[in-house]
Amino acid sequence: TSAFQAQDLAPPDVQFDVTRRFLADNDDNKINLGQGTYRDENGRPWVLPSVKMAKASLDEFNHEYLPILGFQPFRDEASRLLYKGTRALNEDTIASCQSLSGSGALLLVTLALKKLQSAPDTIYITDPTWVNHHLMFSIIGYKVEILPCYRDGAFDFDAYTASLRQAKAGSPVVLHTCAHNPTGCDPTKEQWKLIGSIIKENKLFPIFDSAYLGFNSGSFDEDAWPIRYFMEVLSVELAVCLSMAKSMGLYGERIGLVSFATLARESSQIAESVLQSVQRSTITAPPAYGARVATAVLSTPSIREQWQKDLVTMSSRIRLMRKRAYEELVRLQTPGDWSCIINQTGMFAFLGISKTQIKHLERKHHIFMVETSRLSIAGLNEHNVRRFAEALDETVR
Ligand code: PLP
Repeated sequence: TSAFQAQDLAPPDVQFDVTRRFLADNDDNKINLGQGTYRDENGRPWVLPSVKMAKASLDEFNHEYLPILGFQPFRDEASRLLYKGTRALNEDTIASCQSLSGSGALLLVTLALKKLQSAPDTIYITDPTWVNHHLMFSIIGYKVEILPCYRDGAFDFDAYTASLRQAKAGSPVVLHTCAHNPTGCDPTKEQWKLIGSIIKENKLFPIFDSAYLGFNSGSFDEDAWPIRYFMEVLSVELAVCLSMAKSMGLYGERIGLVSFATLARESSQIAESVLQSVQRSTITAPPAYGARVATAVLSTPSIREQWQKDLVTMSSRIRLMRKRAYEELVRLQTPGDWSCIINQTGMFAFLGISKTQIKHLERKHHIFMVETSRLSIAGLNEHNVRRFAEALDETVR
């Protein structure tokens, strides 16, 4: 008999399964709004011009292992990018480790916290959130508690802060730095300040999940604002899980950085030793190619300038598509209030339509999205936005 029994069969991943169904569909006008990856104005994957320049600039290299903590030039460049202008950067109180993109950074950070003497048993995430938060933290052995954050197309500040106040001291709390996935609803700066003061008062440990820095507004610094506010004004220790997947379009390269910003050199040295230990215990050493490309982007002034333009290109096209989708729905006088599409931010819009309506969109109109009613705005373009609006209109009438 096999070790693998019928009851062990794991269900397919809901998100990846949308793409599988999309690829299997033979309709010429099908639209994939399920996958959270940027698409250009013709619906195609986009290799950033800055990334093309960076790849062309690489010298011949060998294929030796990187050190456990990753490619040192990448760690330095990414830390300088992330913590620009902060005391921690000047005082060298940052611990960092190259990770397998943002997911790997979350894995390392939560494994590292579990290894500390204070080893928290509970972790707080938003409800709703990116599906991996539940999956990853529970497999590591955390008790996962949820903080409601969404109501009627907007961030629910009152409900969120009320539950945050009840969170257990010492526990990590995962914050979406910007472009909340899936709702697209971020706190305002004033709300961030209050969230920060609750976190500080209740001695919670903030983990900034940062998968969309620069991709959201077009400005990395603007999108990183909450992190720097927590550090500079509140003076709290925190972790940042930085992904280069969206901001450099390096999805498959799995390039990211996990870092702890601490308040003392000694703490950062200890933190880095723990990161090194959990990296060694899991994947040994991270992959090299994406680190070389990202480093070339960040460290070559002309390429970095192009990258800043690329961030503006991506974020502006997404904003334009929000506006176009909204305009079409208004033109069609589609029942309901669709202003959430223009008020939300980042890659996703959260429509709040039913599962039945989502199935109908897929079966009748060949428009694919995940069943939570999250749609990836990046999948829209001038060639399909009108068809999308007409299909949604027909579906909700
Ligand atoms: N965190 C959030 C909220 C995300 O939406 C994503 C990507 O979809 C990630 C982290 C990390 O993704 P990756 O592992 O591809 O960097």
